[in-house]
Amino acid sequence: MNGNLRVGNLFGIPFFINVSWFFVLALVTLNFGSGLAARFPGLGGQAWSLGLVSGLLLFASVLLHELGHSFAAKQQGIGVNSITLFLFGGLANLEDEAKTPAGAFWIAVAGPLVSLALFGLLLLVSGSGLVVGPMAAIVGLLAYINLTLAAFNMIPGLPLDGGNVLKAAVWKITGNRYRGIRWASRMGQLLGWSAVLLGALSVLGISNVGSFWTLIIGWFLLQNAGQSAQSATIQEALSGLTAADAVLEKSPIISVDNTLRELADVAVISRGNDQWRRFLVQDSQAQLAGTISLDALQTMPSSQWSDYRVRDFLQPIAQEIQVQSDKPLLDVMGQLEKQGVQALTVIRANGTLMGLLEKAQIINLLQQKAVSQPVYTKLIARLTSESLR
Ligand SMILES: [Zn+2]
Repeated sequence: MNGNLRVGNLFGIPFFINVSWFFVLALVTLNFGSGLAARFPGLGGQAWSLGLVSGLLLFASVLLHELGHSFAAKQQGIGVNSITLFLFGGLANLEDEAKTPAGAFWIAVAGPLVSLALFGLLLLVSGSGLVVGPMAAIVGLLAYINLTLAAFNMIPGLPLDGGNVLKAAVWKITGNRYRGIRWASRMGQLLGWSAVLLGALSVLGISNVGSFWTLIIGWFLLQNAGQSAQSATIQEALSGLTAADAVLEKSPIISVDNTLRELADVAVISRGNDQWRRFLVQDSQAQLAGTISLDALQTMPSSQWSDYRVRDFLQPIAQEIQVQSDKPLLDVMGQLEKQGVQALTVIRANGTLMGLLEKAQIINLLQQKAVSQPVYTKLIARLTSESLR
């Protein structure tokens, strides 16, 4: 997400605040502050500082909710990349997904359970008579907010926690995680459209249910539910495939012992008009030795090409753009994305060079699936435009 400020660490988890959060804090401070000023006229200017305190406590509640998800994940050995507070609340970014439906269920409900516990605690405090006046009003408000946080998040559609509960349930019943994600995403999209519709009707003055915020939240739900549906589709299509499945049949490979003349010949016939500019080089044991650029040919007249060997122009190849042939294709996609490259060099388990894997080939694989399932067509269009960017 853009505009995130790193605030520090919480239990070893990087903690970020999105700039949009300050906007909401200001709104909440104004809202709470004016409420307190109206109820307790004696407060004067203090009402605004108490409004700010309430706003900060609201976000502390959201933060504790996200820590609930984070601890449940850590309990299962899943790392937490970050916690971010933003316009619509909080987000705990997990390194990995739960391995089982039960695991996914517990991560999903841990947040709302924390909110419920806070609600109970605040209710006890306000019932005990320990706090009075404006403080009692703030405690009461926070209790209500935490109950709302728990209830709203349990609405059964992704990206909400309830959506993750639904995902876990469908996963448990069908044994298929992707089906779980698809169901929960569809519910999220349905909820999103309903909220957008309600919000739009209220903005137009046709209905008095909902508000401008309903519209915005609906839009947010739609975006996120659509994204999770798409990534589930990619994950399912690529599940069971490995790097080896996407290796180019005619990869640009040359031996260290070949001459530059032979390199030139192979380069000309290798790919027709769309010529390779760089070749992978293997040694006599078929191990990866490095790469050679066709620029090597330009360093001397063609009459001398037969006098030099590929090994004389060898360039090293970075570990980050090599991949084991048995690596799941989904992880390979992640590696391509992370390194910002279009191709990786594939190495077999015994260390021998297998060939080149291009992002375009993964898109081809998805395209083959598209013949039987039209749902992929849109997805492929998106991936293709991304790889051209
Ligand atoms: Zn949550």
